[in-house]
Order: sequence, then C-alpha cells, then structure tokens
Amino acid sequence: MTETRLRFPPSPTGYLHIGGARTALYNWLYARKTGGKLILRIEDTDVDRSSRDSIEGILDGLQWLGIDWDEGPYFQTDFSNDHRSSAQELLANGKAYKCFCTKDELDRKREAALAAKQVLGYDGSCRDLSGAEIARKEAQGLASVIRFKVPQRTGTIGYDDKVLGMIESDYKELDDFVIVRSNAQPLYLLCNVVDDIRDKISHVIRGQDHMTNTIKQLLLYEALEAPLPVFAHMPLTLDTKKAKISKRSHGEIVAVHFYKERGFIPWAFNNFLVLLGWSPGDDREIFTREELIEAFSLERINRSSSIFNYRKGDEKFFTDPKAIAINEHYLRTMDISALAEMVKLVLIKENLWDVSYDKEKKQWYLDTLELIRGRFHTLNDFTSMGRAYFADDYIIEQKPLNKNILKYAGLSTWLPKLGAEYEKMASFSIDETERLARECAQQADVKPGVIINGMRTVVTGQLAGPSMFDILQVIGREKVVERLKKTPQLYS
Ligand code: GLU
Repeated sequence: MTETRLRFPPSPTGYLHIGGARTALYNWLYARKTGGKLILRIEDTDVDRSSRDSIEGILDGLQWLGIDWDEGPYFQTDFSNDHRSSAQELLANGKAYKCFCTKDELDRKREAALAAKQVLGYDGSCRDLSGAEIARKEAQGLASVIRFKVPQRTGTIGYDDKVLGMIESDYKELDDFVIVRSNAQPLYLLCNVVDDIRDKISHVIRGQDHMTNTIKQLLLYEALEAPLPVFAHMPLTLDTKKAKISKRSHGEIVAVHFYKERGFIPWAFNNFLVLLGWSPGDDREIFTREELIEAFSLERINRSSSIFNYRKGDEKFFTDPKAIAINEHYLRTMDISALAEMVKLVLIKENLWDVSYDKEKKQWYLDTLELIRGRFHTLNDFTSMGRAYFADDYIIEQKPLNKNILKYAGLSTWLPKLGAEYEKMASFSIDETERLARECAQQADVKPGVIINGMRTVVTGQLAGPSMFDILQVIGREKVVERLKKTPQLYS
C-alpha cells in the first residue's frame, strides 16, 4: 500500500477554533494510525484576510495540543506559480475559458433568472468565444476571469465518502465556476486542489461545509488528470440551539487558546475534541494517545452534527461540561510527576513557583498536589482555589467567611487560642492536631465542625477541601499558627 498523506490546511484568518482543531486532530490521528504523514499547509492565498498573528496562533495551538506534523508548514502563497500554470494548462487544453462578463451584467442576469424562477448560475455566455472575439475584447482592455468549463454531460458526478457513503450531484446543477479572478489571483477551489495534487495527498478529511466545493473539485482533479484522494467529511459542530459555532457568535469560548489559558490539560482537550464527531463504538470515553490512535477510524466518524454543549452565563460550567469532566478526570488521576510539571508552569506564571519545589521541597510539592487535586477542575485551580498552599496572599472567599467565621464571634478568640496550642505542642501530627481542635470545641461548647470549618476558612480561604488535618500537615505548623492568630482581623 502506498503511504497515506494527510493534510491540515487552515486559512489564517482568525484563531484556531474548536472546529479547526478537531479537523487537525482527526487528520493527525489517521496519519499516525496508518504510519503516514501529516502535512501542514497554511492557506494564505486570501492576502487581505490572512494575518501573521493568526498563523502564529494556529501554530501555537497545534503545538499546545501536541498535534505534530511531518512536513511544512508550507505557505500556499509560495506556490502561486503552480496555481497559475495549472490555470494556464486548463485554458490551453480548452478545459477553462476567459469570461469577460462584468459584475453588473451577471447581477442583472441573476435577477432575471430569479424573477423567472429559473436555475441560478452562470449562463455560459463566454464559454464558446472564438479566438478572434477574445483578442478583440482584450484589445479593448476588458478584464476577464477564468472559468472552469464543466463538461456537458448528463447524469451525475459523485464520490464515495468514507463517512457519508455515496455522494452525488447532477451535472445539471453545476455551472462554470471561476478559478482565477480578474486580478489574476487563482481562487481557493483551484489552489487547494493543485496543492493537494503536488503534496500527493491521499485522504482529505474536512468539514461537511466543504461538500459543495468537493463536487467542483472532482472536476478539477479529472481535468488536471490526477487521481482522486479519499474524501471524508466530518459533521459540523453546533451549539445547543443548533447554530453553527463560530467566533462571531460564541467568542473566545470556541478558541483553543481559551482552553490553554484556562488551564486545560492538552491531551484531555484532544480527548474531548475527538468525541465531538467520533465514537469508538463502545462506551469508552477516556483514551491514552496510543489507545486513541489504535481505536480511531474514519468509518466511525458520526454522520450527523455534534453538539458543543455550552450554556452561556453558566459560571460553573463555563464551557461544555464534558470538556470539564474529561479534564478533571486527567487532572485527578494522571501520573503525579507529569501533573507536577504542568502545575509548575501555572505557578511560574503566577509568580508562585519556588525553586525548592524541584529540590528539597519536592516531596512536599508532590504530596500537596496529591492532596488537593481531588477537587480541582483545571490547572488554574491550583493557583486560585489552591493559592493558600503556595502563598500567604490568598483570598478568603465571601461564602465561607459569612458561613464559617462571621456567624461565630467566638472564633476570634478560639482560633488564636488553638493556634497558641499548636505552637507549643510537642508533635504537630494529624492525630494531635485533631485532638486539640476537638478539645477546643468542647471548651467553647460548640460542635467540632464550628472549629474545623472556621479553621479551614482561615487557613485555606475555601469552603471545602480535603481533610482539614491533612491540610495542616502540608501547610505546616508555622503558617497554620500564623493564620489562626490572624482570625480577629476578619471581623474588622
Ligand atoms: N483552507 C480551508 C479551510 O480552512 C481548507 C479546507 C480544506 O480542508 O480543503 O477551510
């Protein structure tokens, strides 16, 4: 079997969004599964809409996701000669022609066709111009585009889509489409095919929104005498109201960089993305890289649209709950050393990293992560909800402050007193710290929960968390005492 060659050809007109990343992922998975190659091609032909920032954003997003490529990035604009010469070849072979119709003329014809309820599309006025007519128009300085000459055939044209099965279109529905603009700029439809032929692409995996292009492109492959690649069209991703997700209507929430900034684990995000439009055929949802490469197949890509289940204004689930659930799963179960590397980057970003966490306090660092990760959703939680473990300037959240501190005026003396006990006790152990806390409750004549919840609030700023006496161990005696003694300040 010849080598499979996949490509990811983004147009750099915006950030890398969920849809684009999913396309890249599927192509990457298939390339890795088949031992083939993934080619990255930046389709920057639309110079006005392409930007350097967008290119960088796309490369950065792919790198973050760990989607690596084997060739490229190629830039489509570097191959304009190929596009032009293919257009010239089609022209020379009579498979394309120059069209001098002006925009006004075309608009008028379109309106007339609309009024008469006729099929819209180019009427072929310039299709059979003689050489002399063309020369005369050119001598007059009239501008022309190049149109592809759709063969006059009856019946249908089609291909066997790996996801959707046989896809056919009636020749009657195809009109002669433009392949080169009047400013000599070849259009996407042509460039894309010329590049895929040159890059020897064997499989084109892309969104269903490209299916109308595919039909026209079949004709281009034929005219350029190149073999057809295998096509696989993926379902679109819609929001809960069945609207196509887009930057314009959904904003940053659909951008890959949003998830990077929010502290998602790259592989967890791939794991979420792959399920947006593919399923393994059983109830597995969590896959290692190797398992996913093994399980992935084009045949199991869904035919119908997938839903990005984002509910606007939902603070807890600021994105699709499934994305969060998968991230939590990885965060809570992954190898602790691997997690430690990821949390390190977040701590560095927030200026909370201490070099000792890599040296003498390494065990402490790992133990702390192990203790606190069980309730966290994203890596950023380590520096927000978990800030008290790494710094003294953590915030005491309003809810626990009201519920666990302000409601009990007595805590302003009980907790500092407990702090003083902790300071002088012989062994600051789990059992002893608990015993003293319970004793403190007894003396104050309140339930142990009042002391323990108050202590949690003062020491961590949080309403909930792991066992309080385990927490005391990782925070350490000195800091615990200091924090307990500061309790009265919370009442001012
Ligand atoms: N540049 C096109 C896009 O970003 C590529 C489509 C294709 O895969 O052929 O939509």
